[in-house]
Amino acid sequence: MKTCFRTFLIVGGVFAGASLAPLKSRVTADDAPLYGYSASSSAVERQWEEKMRAIPDPKNLRAYMERLTARPHNVGSAYDKDNAEWLLGKFKEFGLDAHIESFSVLYPTPKERLVELVDGGPHFTAKMQEPPVPGDPTSGQTSEQLPTYNAYSIDGDVTAPLVYVNYGVPEDYEVLERHGVSVKGAIVIARYGKSWRGIKPLVGAEHGAVGCIIYSDPRDDGYSGGETFPKGPWRPKDGVQRGSVQDSAMFMGDPLTPAIGATADAKRVPLKDAQSLTKIPVLPISYADAEPLLLAIAGPVAPRDWRGGLPITYHLGPGPAKVHLKMFSNWDMKPLYDVIAQIPGGTYPEEWVMRGNHHDAWVNGAEDPTSGMVTVLEEARSMGELLKQGWKPKRTIIYCAWDGEEPGLLGSTEWVETHVDELRLHAVAYINSDSNSRGYLEMEGSHTLEHFMNDVARDVQDPETKLSVWKRAQLRGIAGASTAEEKRDLLERHDMRLDMLGGGSDHAPFLNFAGIAAIGIGYAGEDHGGIYHSIYDDFYWYTHFSDYDFIYGRALSQTGGIAVMRLADADLLPLQFADFADDIRMYVREVEKFAGQQREQIQELNQKIQEGLFEATADPRETWVTPKREEIPPHLNFAPLDNAVEDLARSSADYQKALDKISANGGAALAGTSLREVNELLMQSERRLTTPEGLPGRFWYKHQLYAPGAYTGYAAKAIPAVRESLEQKKWKEAEQAAARVAQVLENESVLINSATTKLSAMTK
Ligand SMILES: [Zn+2]
Repeated sequence: MKTCFRTFLIVGGVFAGASLAPLKSRVTADDAPLYGYSASSSAVERQWEEKMRAIPDPKNLRAYMERLTARPHNVGSAYDKDNAEWLLGKFKEFGLDAHIESFSVLYPTPKERLVELVDGGPHFTAKMQEPPVPGDPTSGQTSEQLPTYNAYSIDGDVTAPLVYVNYGVPEDYEVLERHGVSVKGAIVIARYGKSWRGIKPLVGAEHGAVGCIIYSDPRDDGYSGGETFPKGPWRPKDGVQRGSVQDSAMFMGDPLTPAIGATADAKRVPLKDAQSLTKIPVLPISYADAEPLLLAIAGPVAPRDWRGGLPITYHLGPGPAKVHLKMFSNWDMKPLYDVIAQIPGGTYPEEWVMRGNHHDAWVNGAEDPTSGMVTVLEEARSMGELLKQGWKPKRTIIYCAWDGEEPGLLGSTEWVETHVDELRLHAVAYINSDSNSRGYLEMEGSHTLEHFMNDVARDVQDPETKLSVWKRAQLRGIAGASTAEEKRDLLERHDMRLDMLGGGSDHAPFLNFAGIAAIGIGYAGEDHGGIYHSIYDDFYWYTHFSDYDFIYGRALSQTGGIAVMRLADADLLPLQFADFADDIRMYVREVEKFAGQQREQIQELNQKIQEGLFEATADPRETWVTPKREEIPPHLNFAPLDNAVEDLARSSADYQKALDKISANGGAALAGTSLREVNELLMQSERRLTTPEGLPGRFWYKHQLYAPGAYTGYAAKAIPAVRESLEQKKWKEAEQAAARVAQVLENESVLINSATTKLSAMTK
């Protein structure tokens, strides 16, 4: 899986309007108290945070990385277990109470792989082998490297004509249809990018393809970006992106134990009934292997924006290129080793603040995931140091190092599924990271924590510019804003909006399945490259081309550390609903706008068809298939959603008033344990956003406000049941979903009102 942090966004130019005020140190006693703290507990907290900030050491981050990436450590490998035991030892050495929790999961590894061009061009067999690079010591560990493959592809042996499908997302198939190209009975070749990779075989199979090849085009992460490895950071010609293609639309985790923990005695689905394997065989290849295949495709020339970076003319097909694709796996069960480390809370031990990163990789995995894992480990060491100095968090803190994230968030999902009842009672929040590089703080997650995370970011210094990481992220946002509205938002709104969390990392079981407020953090935006999920993602690459002095690693330890401490020590849980209500209003407006646009587009399309526009403008020498008339959507009733948003805004404002009142004059009422009942309500606020039956056709995804798109995979969709019904043109379902989401929001307002009543009673 790929975290969304590496956005490859290049921000050009300098924004002239914003003032580059130096970082105002927030670590002074005269500052306003932290949100959710009384004046006195805030002053104490700031002192501990100041101490914490000074502890993380780049030298340690580098040493941890060198150790963890010394050998390949995919699920089931000897070094995966070795790393888990080493992490366990470290957590214990730091003074945390740690143990390993083990699960048993289905984890296929390749037995037979073949891609050969058998017709339409000179016979060619794909190499599917990444060569060692001189000077890069771990690239030569060939006996331990997992071959290049896509995990959870079904077994298959097919020979068929080849069709080029661009990124292989649903829109691409509409373009193929206009050109009269069908993939029925064909093997599709798609390039990596734009969607999560598992979407490509899924959509291909839905259109009748019998096999799928996914390749890394040099336009996307190879030489078009810059020098290739080892001269530069970009993907070399034989580099291959491994990765899972498990169908994640329905559920995540082990395919044999949907929604239950994969413990030794769990009831398992027989392999033949496993729902989340692909429907057609899939293999990934390099651009060196893809070139002869693409060269042998004829038929219409691919549209301009479908053409990649290879020095060939891209055609659509089908054929005359004919490919023989063979993929067989060893369908073995493998052990997972999750490392779980605790610091018991002093005042509210039954309230858990959780923080994690995965430790497994496809190969040596320096960037993904070790660059993130080492910052979490160093954070845990910092907590241990503070404990020795007398710090005692109010709440229990749990550090997690997950196994099996790469094949499908297995370690985190199985752990959450095993402990879901306890978690729903005790979990305050989960903070995730995955890979880390250099640049800007990227924050995503639950909007009840938006204000909280903005405050955390204001208190961390960017190691290069010495601005706060909040200021730097804000300025980057302004420089890159695509609309005036977005720019105004960034300039005038007190808090930057958090992006939603999609799929692709270990936050998903917490947020989407268990309804636990979750946040993803990481630094990115200044490093680029093409070693993702290849043997070249290793210590040599990272220490030459990424955060080689580990100063952004230290910044991430500080960011995560402060967030964890501040959640764990707060008098009143620092969830804030004003930002939340404002964000949800924006998402509701977006979904309503989308419904209106769809109506207009369909009207326009029908008009064009009626006027014969397509036939009149098509080049008669080229094949052109006119789209069919579509039914005009009815006007939909979104009033329940609009009303629910208004209620939410009112409840949030009332809560804020009550909190301001109780916080006035030092907020003495906040101290002590009289807030227990309010905190219990607040902890449940994210749970209220879920329903037991989940999203339509996606029972594992219980959260009604956010989900990874069923046809995008990584990218999140807001109010997904409504949004996806609209996208699929199921109008009645969209309206019903809107009513259900409205009910969820009304329930949330009721919870906020109860918290307000309890807070108000304390100031009477
Ligand atoms: Zn990762």
